[in-house]
Amino acid sequence: MTPTDPIANLATLIRCPSVTPAEGGALSALEAMLKPLGFAVDRVVAKDVGTPDIENLYARLGTEGPHLMFAGHTDVVPVGDEAAWSHGPFSADIANGEMYGRGAVDMKGGIACFVAAIARHIEKHGPPKGSVSFLITGDEEGPAINGTTKLLQWAADKGERWDACLVGEPTNPDQLGDMIKIGRRGSLSGRITVNGVQGHAAYPHLADNPVRGILQLTQALMDPPFDNGTESFQASNLEVTTIDVGNSAVNVIPAKATAAFNIRFNDTWTAESLMAEITARLDRAAAAGSLRQDRAPVRYEITWAERPSHVFLTRNNALIDSLSGAVEAVTGRQPKLSTTGGTSDARFIKDYCPVVEFGLVGQTMHMVDERVAVSDLETLTDIYETFISSWFGHAAA
Ligand SMILES: [Zn+2]
Repeated sequence: MTPTDPIANLATLIRCPSVTPAEGGALSALEAMLKPLGFAVDRVVAKDVGTPDIENLYARLGTEGPHLMFAGHTDVVPVGDEAAWSHGPFSADIANGEMYGRGAVDMKGGIACFVAAIARHIEKHGPPKGSVSFLITGDEEGPAINGTTKLLQWAADKGERWDACLVGEPTNPDQLGDMIKIGRRGSLSGRITVNGVQGHAAYPHLADNPVRGILQLTQALMDPPFDNGTESFQASNLEVTTIDVGNSAVNVIPAKATAAFNIRFNDTWTAESLMAEITARLDRAAAAGSLRQDRAPVRYEITWAERPSHVFLTRNNALIDSLSGAVEAVTGRQPKLSTTGGTSDARFIKDYCPVVEFGLVGQTMHMVDERVAVSDLETLTDIYETFISSWFGHAAA
């Protein structure tokens, strides 16, 4: 049986309990859908010290260009309080026109629809003139070390080259057709430590209070704004996410204070230029600040979180227009081209080919009772099928 029905495809995938890092049978189920369509399927296990081994899947139909990649993940976040679900998190039950299950929208649903779309395309027209591949990881919701990055590297090492990629993450805030993501902000995190001298609150001249310093430094990070946004991006935004002193006594000046921050940044910056700006702000605030009324210098240390996420923006018209046109043809709605929200695996794929993201409505992702409207599965399959025809038409022209 060919996998032309996205509802059946999704039910099969949801019934595989593939909570990160478990494969849960999900990749085997996907392999069983793709092989009858003619895909050559590779199962790639990635390993690294200190992280669980992860199963991934790469499948390709065709040997020539142009080459379109569909990327996504079959792993899902934990179910949370299972008793709170109105239908089992791996049941794929349908009630009131909605299918329930962990991963229904994030993002087994997107995979189920793309499989159905390519199956329908093959049934009607034969294989596309070019190649289609699936790059599917089991490590998107986990540490993301043994997933997309390693799978891309593995495929590139054996000579795979792509012309465009569609990531099937849920991108629509309210309704199918709302939003295509054509880029993502970068993300950078750090932790600041101010060292003082512990002492009695009644004898501050004998102590240095690091709380004063940490407030002066965090204030300098929060104000003024880093920029006012750009043509394609909202303004960069820094949030101080914690200030820790760990002091349980009211009459003791503590020895040390730490704070952590995260900044989501636009294409005004690179991770490197932003680190330089943050360091400059902290240096100025430290030079102007003091740990005591009668002046004691602020000395701080900063440590950066490993692996900042780099900002990117896709400017490939053939890709954006094909997808945008498909959304509009099927839904009658013109999708917003957006760069909002968190990071995704698209940040790794952009190093290999232009990438855009479009999938289901994200409202219930990661929640109890994650579910998808069955009618949305049909609509998304139509959009993907239209996109496939259109993109190969564009790319061949
Ligand atoms: Zn996801």
